[in-house]
Amino acid sequence: MRSHYCGQLNESLIDQEVTLCGWVHRRRDHGGVIFLDMRDRDGVAQVVVDPDTAEAFATADRARSEYVLRIRGRIRLRPEGTQNPNMPTGMIEVLAKDVEVLNTAATPPFQLDEHGKVGEEVRLKYRYVDLRRPEMIEKLRLRSRITHSVRAYLEGEGFLDIETPILTRATPEGARDYLVPSRTHEGHFFALPQSPQLFKQLLMVSGFDRYYQIAKCFRDEDLRADRQPEFTQIDIEASFIEERDIMGITETMVRQLFQDVLDVALPEFPRMPYSEAMQRYGSDKPDLRIPLELVDVDDLMQSVDFKVFSGPAKADDGRVAALKVSGGAKLSRKEIDDYTKFVGIYGAKGLAWIKVNERAKGLDGLQSPIVKFMEGVIEELLDRVGAEDGDIVFFGADKARVVNEALGALRVKLGEDLDLYTADWAPLWVVDFPMFEADDNGRLAALHHPFTAPSCAPEALKASPATALSRAYDMVLNGTELGGGSIRIHDQEMQRVVFDVLGIGKEEAEEKFGFLLDALKFGAPPHGGLAFGLDRLVMLMTGSRTIRDVIAFPKTQSAADLMTDAPGEVSKEQLRDLHIRLRPKAKPEGAGE
Ligand code: ASP
Repeated sequence: MRSHYCGQLNESLIDQEVTLCGWVHRRRDHGGVIFLDMRDRDGVAQVVVDPDTAEAFATADRARSEYVLRIRGRIRLRPEGTQNPNMPTGMIEVLAKDVEVLNTAATPPFQLDEHGKVGEEVRLKYRYVDLRRPEMIEKLRLRSRITHSVRAYLEGEGFLDIETPILTRATPEGARDYLVPSRTHEGHFFALPQSPQLFKQLLMVSGFDRYYQIAKCFRDEDLRADRQPEFTQIDIEASFIEERDIMGITETMVRQLFQDVLDVALPEFPRMPYSEAMQRYGSDKPDLRIPLELVDVDDLMQSVDFKVFSGPAKADDGRVAALKVSGGAKLSRKEIDDYTKFVGIYGAKGLAWIKVNERAKGLDGLQSPIVKFMEGVIEELLDRVGAEDGDIVFFGADKARVVNEALGALRVKLGEDLDLYTADWAPLWVVDFPMFEADDNGRLAALHHPFTAPSCAPEALKASPATALSRAYDMVLNGTELGGGSIRIHDQEMQRVVFDVLGIGKEEAEEKFGFLLDALKFGAPPHGGLAFGLDRLVMLMTGSRTIRDVIAFPKTQSAADLMTDAPGEVSKEQLRDLHIRLRPKAKPEGAGE
């Protein structure tokens, strides 16, 4: 039906006849001449309809926003003074000969260029209209280029694209499962995969050696900021490899991806142990674009006459850390109050600070509600953080977990607010993760997942699980975890020990993962892999603010689809087929019988 996309038109086509198909982006009447901005997925082109072509003019006159038209016409240079060099097609226009209405359109729920005026709910309800916006088209186009580049690279490296089931058994990745009731097996349920983890390991046992998949994963998580219940992973697994092999392959993949799609040469990927990341940045996904670091001051604070500091400084699980911000003495009281509220979100009970106005003046040159307690240690403290005139030093003192979370988040916020970034892109690998983390009751859970290999032998793991390290690795970019994975356990005995430590008894292990334990008996090769979160990767590469903007049909934060109105109710018959009876809904309070 068409000869060109609107966005493809340029001066090289002058005097040629073209046929365009698309939507009316805007229609303007200019003293007897009608201008139609025609839009398709490639861009916008200006069409001029002259009254001389009477039939075309009459049709154009009827056209409204978002009508679907086919236009035949001749390309010509725009008259001097009306050219728009900021627009790819801004030098030319199409003089229409024929205008045909392929379909009319009701008044759109919002004007495309006024999408900011309507709430996101309206955009999600009419997503097919929202997706007509050039900005959204561009994001999805980039997403397609990203998956294309990734596939091309992995295929070139001998990885095979193999699909794994969606209706399956639970795969523990730390979230709640989405369940699907079985009609043919009364009382039994499928779980949607939280990841293809177990299947990709089984493919290694089969000998496929190198596997990848751009896989949908499902996790029923509580409402946390910017997550989607279904999301996409670039999932990878390989056999007969060690950490450096798989890290090398995937680092090259990401490097090439950035080169292909953004023309960006990423810098080196340093490797940082988890403990160092926590120590220096309070986070296992540090944003290395921000030149701020947490500095331990526990030793100095043990002796101060200020319980808020000396308590955690002396406690085994406590931490007192300082965060110096160069030039931060200019922060106002109000700004500091706001940062105090901000760290409160992470459980910090306060935010102590010292403004360094003039170091040469000793205590008199400092401004701070707490400096009076620090007389004996202040010089050493300021030396240690490298404080100079005009700086501010913030403090966190609490359980180490709280200090890390609070100061780690404050560091990122300050970086953003004060625009402290020293680079556009700062990737790294975080390695040497602990095998397990303890919950508040001291119960151990896998930090990664229970199939991750420890760095030590089974006996050592049994003897001291809490301090064991794993063979896991995360790729981090600009403070976002792009992907994570590990070398896996390929030995049945080791897998049993790990289940044991996790409190998964023999019976439960058999019931849930018997097939894996079985497979480990039948010649499992050493293997490992990782998975990248595709949505987050696209979000970073497109500079989007939310993950919803890089997913064609996302769900809301309460895991609903406003457009299709899913999840929805189902008929009694369907429920009966599935052997499900719903409990009567709780009656609203005060409602009579
Ligand atoms: N399955 C893991 C995840 O979803 C990734 C991996 O270990 O390969 O995080």
